[in-house]
Amino acid sequence: MARAKKDSDFRYNTGESRVPWAAVGENYNQQDVMEVVKFLMQGDGAVYDARVESVREAVSALAEVSTPPAKLSLDVEVAKCEKKAAEYVGIDDCVFLTNCTAGFEIAYKYVNLQPGDEVIVPAITFIATMAYPLSVGAKVVFCDVDPRTLNMDPDDLAKKITNKTKMVVPVHIGGYPCDMDRIMDIAHTHGALVLEDAAHGFGAKYKGRNIGAIADFTSFSFHEVKNNTSFGEGGILMTTVPEFKSSLRRARFLGVDFSMPPIKDWLYNVAALPGKYGPVVAGNASTTEIQALGLSLQIDRYGKILEERARCARYVTQRLQGVPGVIPQDLGAGGTVPTFHLYQLQIDPAELGGDIQVFKKKLTERGVTNIPHFGPLYRFQILQELGYDADAIAATCPNTEEVFYHRFTHLPIYGLTEEQLDYMIQAIKETAAEMRGSK
Ligand SMILES: *Cc1c(COP(=O)(O)O)cnc(C)c1O
Repeated sequence: MARAKKDSDFRYNTGESRVPWAAVGENYNQQDVMEVVKFLMQGDGAVYDARVESVREAVSALAEVSTPPAKLSLDVEVAKCEKKAAEYVGIDDCVFLTNCTAGFEIAYKYVNLQPGDEVIVPAITFIATMAYPLSVGAKVVFCDVDPRTLNMDPDDLAKKITNKTKMVVPVHIGGYPCDMDRIMDIAHTHGALVLEDAAHGFGAKYKGRNIGAIADFTSFSFHEVKNNTSFGEGGILMTTVPEFKSSLRRARFLGVDFSMPPIKDWLYNVAALPGKYGPVVAGNASTTEIQALGLSLQIDRYGKILEERARCARYVTQRLQGVPGVIPQDLGAGGTVPTFHLYQLQIDPAELGGDIQVFKKKLTERGVTNIPHFGPLYRFQILQELGYDADAIAATCPNTEEVFYHRFTHLPIYGLTEEQLDYMIQAIKETAAEMRGSK
């Protein structure tokens, strides 16, 4: 006999019994669904209102014939998007998390990071790269950057690594792959592991190899400002550490893996994770089915997204080639393929008779947006509060100081029409000519 369907019962439909889930969790209802639709597709005016009304009717009609998803968190959609991401990168497994930073934490915990340990990060990145080491009182060491790519400079890494270094964290800034061969070699020679901050690097290739399948750990971001997004927030962690591969899911949810047979005994089945130097307590970075669905869809069209970014980057770089004093984004070669998350423009201050601050101001006057970009991390207030000496660190990072204050900026490229790209290119050429002229 068909049972009457409760108005609000989209979720945890467990059949006639409606237990156990319906008994413990609140359901969402038609109105909640409609508000999500209206949030995702905003508008106003009579036409919008009329169409919202027709969607409302459709949702209501769907509710009569639909069944709710069994679960909203960590279920089939999460598993599907993990499979897609792993296949995309060509690795056997990965885990979908709340964000990229949560992935870093899992990797840092694996090396049992504690006070007295050292972590080496590039001087130019986002605070997320080093938040966990700072929070546990480990020492963050700033590696100078390669002035051309803004990525970790392996020569400086070789100088700064010590036997206290537990983790080396290259960041593929703007999606341009770091010199992974040298970084891996230097780190492993000193007994340190490598965690790639690949927040900008999903889909990038280093010498023909996919980012994600190279380092000990790689964490990707699907935050809304990245190349693809899982409806606002999300991250994926991959590992090549054999002893940790089977712990990825347990690392996500407090030591428990829901893809394993049902938990019979919570008393004994919740165990610590295997850390490199001892047991590790897992946190909770669980994700929702909706986030996972969003990411799966974007991975399906990710090839097109990357191609469009590459097309815009090529267009701008080719047209800026040979403009005196202007150094366009490196497009990659020898099997190294960037994601062009950011387009990096540099100038030669000597040739233009002024630095990037002047250049940016003139570009803004011509109506070209500046993308705010990553600055030297050692200048952040949080580090002064923790007792780091910014000037002393700056003295060990001369390239960072030079490129940040005098040479580079990021340009918008994605989603621009050819006309808009031409406008921007023209503005860059005019700005450079003007600066050279008044040198
Ligand atoms: C965005 C970003 C992160 C953090 O990603 P979340 O998913 O927001 O945690 C880390 N590193 C860099 C370089 C980033 O740009």
